[in-house]
Amino acid sequence: MRQTLVAGNWKMNGSKAATESLCKAIIAGLNSSDTGIVVCVPYVYLADAAKLTEGTPLDLGAQNVADQSSGAYTGEISASMLNEFNCKYAIVGHSERRTYYGDTNESVALRYSQAQQQGIIPILCVGETLEQRENDQTFSVIDEQLDAVLSAAGIESFSKAVIAYEPVWAIGTGRTASDEQAQEVHQYIRQKFAAKNQAIADQLQILYGGSVKPDNAKGLFAMPDIDGGLIGGASLDAEGFLKIYSASK
Ligand code: PGA
Repeated sequence: MRQTLVAGNWKMNGSKAATESLCKAIIAGLNSSDTGIVVCVPYVYLADAAKLTEGTPLDLGAQNVADQSSGAYTGEISASMLNEFNCKYAIVGHSERRTYYGDTNESVALRYSQAQQQGIIPILCVGETLEQRENDQTFSVIDEQLDAVLSAAGIESFSKAVIAYEPVWAIGTGRTASDEQAQEVHQYIRQKFAAKNQAIADQLQILYGGSVKPDNAKGLFAMPDIDGGLIGGASLDAEGFLKIYSASK
């Protein structure tokens, strides 16, 4: 009943040339009727990627968005700027942003709203660290991360948003959550939303992220509350990324 979505997060990787070759190779592997596949490229390659993906089944996204709409915010990129480059999605609250660049639950909520105000679908990342998991804080951490956005933007806003559950201990480590570990958290998130609005919960896409590879994607995506993935390292290889996409179908 829910559409699946596979999103590549290139992070700070690539070049102009790599953007072109990777976009072209992914597009070459898609059928015109394919949907639910997106690449989130570095800001400076959005213009090139917008031209390369225009009129193709490959959608485009950004890896972040400013928490303000315009003004004296040196180095930031606004949602309206992203809108000029066909960005359908913007990742907000990625754990690398939270850990290295000080993105807080409050600023993530502002980024989420900025994206939505421009018609961009936020991919809201949540997830616990290993220490938090070991201290049985997984659900409370996820509650805090989600509640900040729910109280700022409201439950209805999630009809135009995607959630990505990314356990921090699984990102870039090669250590994936087991299918059951991931499903447990996805189910928790969906039930949290269902308690507020069943219809929103039923259609909400909840992606899993953290060391998804072609050989573990199928098992993860087969779980009832996992609707696709947010793919880091493995999205830099067109063939592998397309295999992961196929596993979502
Ligand atoms: P990974 O990254 O697939 O390289 O673990 C996922 C992410 O950070 O979105």
